[in-house]
Amino acid sequence: MADPILIIGAGIGGLSAAIHLAAAGKRVLILEQNTAVGGKMSEWTAQGFRWDTGPSVITMRHVFEELFSAAGKRLEDYLTLLPVEPLTRYFFPDGTLLDFTRDLPALLRQIEQIDARDVEGFLNYLSYVARLHRITGPVFIYDEPPRPGSLLRVHPRDMLHVDAWRSMDRAIRSFVHSPQLRQLLGRFATYVGASPYRAPATLNVIAHVELNGGVWYPQGGIYAIARAMERLALELGVEIRTGTWIDQILVKDNRAAGVVLADGRTISGEAVIANVDVATVYEHLLPRTAQTEKRLRKLSRIEPSCSGFILMLGVEGQHPQLAHHNIFFSRDYPGEFRDIFERQRPPDDPTIYVAITSKADPDHAPAGHENWFVLVNAPACTPDFDWREAQQSYREVVLDRLREYGLDIRRSIRVERILTPADLETMTGARRGALYGSSSNNPLAAFLRPHNQDPLIRNLYYAGGTTHPGGGVPMVTLSGKLAARLILKKV
Ligand SMILES: Cc1cc2nc3c(=O)[nH]c(=O)nc-3n(C[C@H](O)[C@H](O)[C@H](O)COP(=O)(O)OP(=O)(O)OC[C@H]3O[C@@H](n4cnc5c(N)ncnc54)[C@H](O)[C@@H]3O)c2cc1C
Repeated sequence: MADPILIIGAGIGGLSAAIHLAAAGKRVLILEQNTAVGGKMSEWTAQGFRWDTGPSVITMRHVFEELFSAAGKRLEDYLTLLPVEPLTRYFFPDGTLLDFTRDLPALLRQIEQIDARDVEGFLNYLSYVARLHRITGPVFIYDEPPRPGSLLRVHPRDMLHVDAWRSMDRAIRSFVHSPQLRQLLGRFATYVGASPYRAPATLNVIAHVELNGGVWYPQGGIYAIARAMERLALELGVEIRTGTWIDQILVKDNRAAGVVLADGRTISGEAVIANVDVATVYEHLLPRTAQTEKRLRKLSRIEPSCSGFILMLGVEGQHPQLAHHNIFFSRDYPGEFRDIFERQRPPDDPTIYVAITSKADPDHAPAGHENWFVLVNAPACTPDFDWREAQQSYREVVLDRLREYGLDIRRSIRVERILTPADLETMTGARRGALYGSSSNNPLAAFLRPHNQDPLIRNLYYAGGTTHPGGGVPMVTLSGKLAARLILKKV
């Protein structure tokens, strides 16, 4: 029997690669250190409450449909993706409330109340982001990693519209006037862990996938996606070994030939896919040579995306004023991103995201209670900031801010767990606790991001947030497809 293709890690990128390869008839073995699949997509239960501990906003439904249809299956037979309405409820410091609804006339009426000029500005913005998606999608998202020559695939007429040389915020300002809408649209930079004041305007394309494509909630919780992908992979004959730590990638004649387990045993493979941060592969899994050292130095210079500070709260009482997804904006948005990316300190005045899945799945909390997942963007870990020391006082900052928004929940908290960027780094293996891999703040980020195929070691491929096309659940699903496609072309 031919050696299997080995996949290190059962994150969403690893599972996606496995499904594509097995659907093409390949033998696949996934080796995962944790006891369950999913990686950053995980869940936690306590005292009758249930939380998703990682991703909570799912966009790009078509990516999941395509994954299942690649294996000749229907997504609906594995996963129920429900449309979320409103997409998000936004709370602003001046008391403005905006429900980002799928009902366009109702949305425009709310925008008109804020600033009548922004109705046409917003409609123009929607068509601008749809055009960005049409132009950049085929080159930067859905196909193999872009090279400078890839830009030749963009029609000369569309070249200027790639909009890489101004910031997202600058572009947004050219469409809408109100500070509220500017802050709201800038927030999409955080979907890839970037700053709207530094990320290229091209990334406004993220707004297209949410505002024109919708937000989806998998019935049962976000972890239902990992479960559905695991089920499909197993049905296709993929072998998944959990509780299996990979110590090294075996390299022979400059070619990935297998892996070495923690106990020293080796497994040979036809090819190896690392669903692990690319820099971590170079630092810990590959033999050190002058060439790999040089590449590690280069990879280490890539700015990480932001991390997150999380409170999982079991809250007594119902809050009808809250939706499934809620955002409580800070007073000084540019200052918040300066704190995260320049000062590298948790923001004093953070924007707070609160997701409550018990609104859609009442059994996620005991009767009369809610399961709050509270997330604040935080800097990637640095050696000179100790989260163990800071976590309790930062919890108070977040709860104080929620109280200022009229949500005085301290005495209603029945269960609580804090996850800091340092915890995320330990639990998920994400370098410096980065949620999305690299930051995408650089206009050339798409070109600097590591390729799905290793440039030095033959037969070594990557799927996951630190490789093309980037972080986020749909994107890593695509990265798995691209890694599989590159392998199938070769072997
Ligand atoms: C708090 C948080 C909130 C987020 N919010 C969103 C969101 O709302 N929407 C969204 O789309 N995305 C969100 N993301 C990002 C999204 O979760 C990630 O981009 C995606 O899940 C990463 O998948 P991955 O394929 O890179 O694998 P990972 O999830 O990084 O998994 C890698 C796997 O490899 C395993 N592994 C690593 N090293 C080894 C080894 N040596 N041996 C064996 N196994 C190993 C790990 O245990 C892990 O299971 C969020 C992430 C976090 C943490």
